[in-house]
Amino acid sequence: MLIMLQHIRALPKGHKILVTAISALLALMLLTPSEKAQATRDSHLKKLEVGQRYPLLVDMPAEPLVESEQKPNYVWHTQQVRSGDSLAKLFSRAKLSARSLHNMLQSLGDKAKPLTELRPGEQLEFARAASGELLAIRYAQSRTHIIDVVKDGDSYQLTESNIAIDHREQFATGTISSNFWNAGVSAGLSPAIIDGIANILGYDIDFALELRRGDSFAVLYEQNYVGGDLIADGNILAVTFTNQGETYNAVRHSDGNYYTANGSSVRKAFLRSPVSYKYISSSFNPRRLHPVTGRVRPHNGIDYAAAVGTPVYASGDGRVIKSGYSSLNGNYVFIKHGEQFVTKYLHLSKRLVTSGQKVRQGQTIGKVGATGRVTGPHLHYEFLVNGVHRNPRTVKLPEAAPVPKAQLAAFKAQASELLARLNSQKRIMLAMK
Ligand SMILES: [Zn+2]
Repeated sequence: MLIMLQHIRALPKGHKILVTAISALLALMLLTPSEKAQATRDSHLKKLEVGQRYPLLVDMPAEPLVESEQKPNYVWHTQQVRSGDSLAKLFSRAKLSARSLHNMLQSLGDKAKPLTELRPGEQLEFARAASGELLAIRYAQSRTHIIDVVKDGDSYQLTESNIAIDHREQFATGTISSNFWNAGVSAGLSPAIIDGIANILGYDIDFALELRRGDSFAVLYEQNYVGGDLIADGNILAVTFTNQGETYNAVRHSDGNYYTANGSSVRKAFLRSPVSYKYISSSFNPRRLHPVTGRVRPHNGIDYAAAVGTPVYASGDGRVIKSGYSSLNGNYVFIKHGEQFVTKYLHLSKRLVTSGQKVRQGQTIGKVGATGRVTGPHLHYEFLVNGVHRNPRTVKLPEAAPVPKAQLAAFKAQASELLARLNSQKRIMLAMK
């Protein structure tokens, strides 16, 4: 700086002002610690581990430093719980005295319960004195729940703390080219989210049989993070699915149920498909041949070609009116739902319900087979209304309760905001492909 100032005197006046301004700026920059210097300073305060993410510390208050200096400097030993372990065995392996265990259990009383219900594979961290006396235990009961035991004078104190879960929104979109499972995996979705979508929209869409190439979907869902790490997928917030030109929307309400944009429940008395889409290799078989005659012809039911052993679900709550066998139907189950509806499931390899039994929607009632008059394994499914065979898709079915009137306006506003975001994201993603 001194050298620079000497040179300035020799320069013309205009230049002098410019150079003075530049050197003032330089001086200011030199006096302000750079971001790099700041980061280096902060990193001394915390032991950083490779592969972990840490928040960028902009300004470190002085208090935590003072506090951590006052805390005793424990050396921690980790013990993994083995099958057949007791707290006594763990203490012994950790070279902790039996007296410490006795004292701890005495002073904690009922509060020690979580420590006596350990499962194999879990880990406990122990801090001990040279004498073998227990100083502290740290036990992560789950990713978000921590139990700490600390020696306090002659007794022990137990504290439980929850680590906050950070919910982040995630978006995905996909197009069907073989089946829904593959499309979901290609879109980067976890099994939980793929199944979640199929469960939410399974009342309107037959994921096993009626998807077509070019059908598309988009989903907005939560991912749960703890300390910067993804621990699990969370709730589906909104989903849209276009099946054969028709679009179905579902939005999660604060009650945990899903509703359409206008507040009607997506839940209905019947599932569209009595078999899981996961067992169907292709949702759209262009040749829907009758399995016996080998000709394409309309018949009174829907045939789901699936491997022997594929679970068959009751499509609605009801009572089994017949679980039996005949040479034509093979093993079959008939279910009555209320006064009007009957569903029939034919050619089963196995029946898992008996006549007169009550069943719940989605309950497994049998397994796909090839019994009766058939040429190959499949489920023949019939849907009758007042004794007449009907297409469940075109029949008006009873729905679960809509969003309560008092919450409807708020729900609609939230639903339209979420669906608008979902659709604009979907357009952007599809345009990029
Ligand atoms: Zn059939």
